Amino acid sequence: MRVHEIAKELGLNSKDLLDQLVAMGIPAKNHMSTLDDNAIARIKASAKKTVPAAPAPAPMPAAPKVAEKTPAPPAPVQAPVAVKAPAPAPVQAPAPVPAPAPKVQAPPPAAEPASDGKKVIILKGPIVVRDLAGLLGVRPNQLIAELMRLNVLASIGEQIEIKDAARIAEKHGYTIEREKKVEHKPLPKKETPKQEEDKEKAKKEELRPPVVTVLGHVDHGKTSLLDRIRNTSVAKGEAGGITQHIGASTVKVGEKSITFLDTPGHAAFTAMRARGANMTDIAIIVVDAQDGMMPQTQEAIKHAQAANVPIIVAINKMDLPTANPDKAKKQLQAMDMTPEEWGGKTICCGVSALTGAGVPELLEMILLQAEVMELKATPNDSARGFVIEAQLESGMGPTAHLLVSNGTLNVGDVILCGPHYGKVRALINDHGEKIKSAGPSTPVKCLGLSGVPDAGAPFEILKSEREARDAAEARKAENKLTQLTAPKRASLATLFEKMKENKDRVELQLMIKTDVQGSLEAIDHSLKQINSDKVSLNILMSGVGNISANDILLASASDAIVLGFHVSIDESASKLAKKEGVEIRLHSIIYELIDQVREAMAGLLSPILREKVISHATVKQVFNISKTGIIAGCLCTDGRITSRLKGRVKRAGSVLFEGKIGSLKRFQSDVGEVKEGQECGILLDGFSAYAEGDILEFYEVERITQTL
Ligand code: GDP
Repeated sequence: MRVHEIAKELGLNSKDLLDQLVAMGIPAKNHMSTLDDNAIARIKASAKKTVPAAPAPAPMPAAPKVAEKTPAPPAPVQAPVAVKAPAPAPVQAPAPVPAPAPKVQAPPPAAEPASDGKKVIILKGPIVVRDLAGLLGVRPNQLIAELMRLNVLASIGEQIEIKDAARIAEKHGYTIEREKKVEHKPLPKKETPKQEEDKEKAKKEELRPPVVTVLGHVDHGKTSLLDRIRNTSVAKGEAGGITQHIGASTVKVGEKSITFLDTPGHAAFTAMRARGANMTDIAIIVVDAQDGMMPQTQEAIKHAQAANVPIIVAINKMDLPTANPDKAKKQLQAMDMTPEEWGGKTICCGVSALTGAGVPELLEMILLQAEVMELKATPNDSARGFVIEAQLESGMGPTAHLLVSNGTLNVGDVILCGPHYGKVRALINDHGEKIKSAGPSTPVKCLGLSGVPDAGAPFEILKSEREARDAAEARKAENKLTQLTAPKRASLATLFEKMKENKDRVELQLMIKTDVQGSLEAIDHSLKQINSDKVSLNILMSGVGNISANDILLASASDAIVLGFHVSIDESASKLAKKEGVEIRLHSIIYELIDQVREAMAGLLSPILREKVISHATVKQVFNISKTGIIAGCLCTDGRITSRLKGRVKRAGSVLFEGKIGSLKRFQSDVGEVKEGQECGILLDGFSAYAEGDILEFYEVERITQTL
């Protein structure tokens, strides 16, 4: 029997049962693990002892690992380490179900509005990232990304300094104050209304539906699967006005719901993440049962892994007589994602988007995964969330498709969304119905904003229109400033600064693209040999091929540096890298690449050699001249070619050769310079295999001294 089936029988959720199994020393990896009869008997006997006869009203709490489960101490000043604060008599212990012996745990600091209406968080000292995220109502991953942008590297369980917490909190509309030392002030007997309200809110934390994105290779059936799940074709729905396209839709599965984001594919997924909008809880990777994994499937998996989003694999097109799910499973195994039925952890579901077979099981797996993740939200809080997409619609003005991540969005709320604000005039759900309010994980179309916000922009609710207008104005001004400068992301040069600032280890995220698999393995192996006390090196993704815009998106979302070996950068990628401030380093000698990373990690970076592309030429004809040898007859298509530049030969997007200009001629005479639109003869030292249509790219190498 599987863990989730036993959990159902015992009236527990799978997560709690797994915790119990671990505590009892019974091996079980996840909710799909199978238990033998002996283990089942043991767990049932133990459950009889611990589960009350009457059905538990709420899922049985495990040892309180999330701080918010612990009641906030009633002292007027909230302290992150007030472990000893005794609970005064009138305070009710909130745990109605017998829980395992609670570990002594520091209650979290709390946020409260100060008398002037501003939200204030009082801290005693450094705060753990997870706690701060909880207080600000944002996901820890988002907070970690925001901290990275401030050059503060901290993982979810690490502490950050008050000054860094204050900078982040400010962005979310909070002020951080250091706790004033109050010496043994007697505790108030009664809780203030504010504290009672806080406790009320904490109690109302509820499970929320998971938000799911479908990823995978083109034509493997992402759209068909989404359509099948929604049980209606998007195209038909739009034409008939039955379903509204609002960027996502919620599907009912029995008593529960799942929200699916409409735009499949990892480019959209990572683009959102790059903007700090981590909306997805679970990724479905669709693989064609006939074709198996393709390059884009692997890429999608890496994007989901980089985002730390759990993956469920849907092996689609199982209706085809040639379907061979084992092929995909073997490929998954080779990627260290062994399917659960083969002893690994990856959940795979065979489905057919065409016939609908296997789809109910897939939905059940999503719900089980969500259960294990304990996705929670506080519906009775004011709403926060993100823009899925937004537009200007005639007769309606700016409309934004929003996903509520926490709280409830109501008609009449004053909303601040990116640099725009407004009073919510109407809300429309995914069936095109007008609704009054939208709770956590609900997608909704919102009318009433003053302008069209960007996709991925966060939204929140403020108390007054005036406050919202001021905040919107401030954001507009800030946007103008930041448009002038690319966002500051990780770079090898700033690594040392980070090492100096941080007491703990700094993580260096790298992405590696190479021309062939062999060099990838060699680089990967050599990088893993580098040891450093201060820096942990994480290879976020490695692959073969030129550096694409998708790679840059992923690097931007994960604050990674891109290292290229014998590859070139797609034009769109180059532009995006500039805009996003992503550092790309191209190399043609492995040891140089490794040395550079090693030196950066040791804080000894030599001057940066930055390549600057100056001009291009197209090969029109190839000449064999008796004295000189092979010469490429070219047309300079942009910029100026000068004899001191270096050149590379590109064919079909790949680089064939790089070297110095050996000879630059116009009409048989050597020249120092050739301008755009002129024809010329070019010879790169050491290369003669030119072909018509080859592109010659000329560049210079700038030396930039690094200031550490
Ligand atoms: P996407 O590019 O991943 O969104 O793939 P689509 O959903 O557009 O599907 C690509 C093609 O595969 C279409 O021609 C679909 O009709 C077909 N297709 C999708 N799912 C199935 C399936 O389960 N069985 C079969 N036989 N064909 C399917």
